[in-house]
Amino acid sequence: MEWFLSTEHWYKLIFQEGYAAGRAAFALIIFAMLIEVIAYRTQKKAYPWEEARVSLALMLGHLLAGAAVHGIIFGFFAYTVYHYRLFTLTVDMNHWYMGVLLFVLCDFAYYVMHRASHSVNLLWASHAVHHSAQRMIVLASIRLTWFPVISGVFLFYLPIVWLGFTPEWVYGMVSASLAYQFAVHTELVPRLGWLDYVFDTPSNHRVHHGTNDIYINKNYGGILMIWDHIFGTYQVELADNKPQFGLTPALPRPSNVFDIALGQFRNIAKGLVNTSNWKSRINILFGPP
Ligand SMILES: [Zn+2]
Ligand SMILES: [Zn+2]
Repeated sequence: MEWFLSTEHWYKLIFQEGYAAGRAAFALIIFAMLIEVIAYRTQKKAYPWEEARVSLALMLGHLLAGAAVHGIIFGFFAYTVYHYRLFTLTVDMNHWYMGVLLFVLCDFAYYVMHRASHSVNLLWASHAVHHSAQRMIVLASIRLTWFPVISGVFLFYLPIVWLGFTPEWVYGMVSASLAYQFAVHTELVPRLGWLDYVFDTPSNHRVHHGTNDIYINKNYGGILMIWDHIFGTYQVELADNKPQFGLTPALPRPSNVFDIALGQFRNIAKGLVNTSNWKSRINILFGPP
């Protein structure tokens, strides 16, 4: 039992890594937001402050409601799984290719997790918060669930830990990937040529958030687009089909933070209560949204 009860591990994961990553992410996002606001000014466009306010409120709820708990749950499972790892894989300057391997594995796990979040109702209940943004501004990226534990995100990364990468490295790589994704939430950057083919760019991610028929369930990639090319979910942004952002069906009160954060969970709870049939209950939880 000792391996996951070691306070040293907890301290390292939650307080050192978690807070350091959180501080860096916060600084990065405020910096990116300022650049965006200035760019809106210079282009004489109105910055959507209401959208920004809702995003910040959702982020606050995410932090208060369980980001740390999520870290603890991930830590518990990750150190347990790591104890039973298949290999011991180290990432350092002598084994830089292990860093590349870890990056590719984490990016693939992100693709699977993200696609599952759009296909399984219970996971969608958390991810829908992110898709509630009606404008693509950098702050849309911090619309995160208030129930990260239920979102099950950590489960998708456990196979990488089992393979033999330390929980700290996996956590760090996933954090770096999420930090990269701040930057793809913007309407200001146009298509970027071949980069759009290889990487998750603002154009690709606008498609992902698009509710237009042609854009639904496309471009799940976190940093690389290769998984979307391989599994047939890639779609380019079309000049004559501007993506419309938000949820379908649209929320009656799209700026109500509680409706956004709790709405899908409320729907699931209602569905579960209103049926006595176990098959339809399972479908409500694990069927498509
Ligand atoms: Zn999504
Ligand atoms: Zn997004």
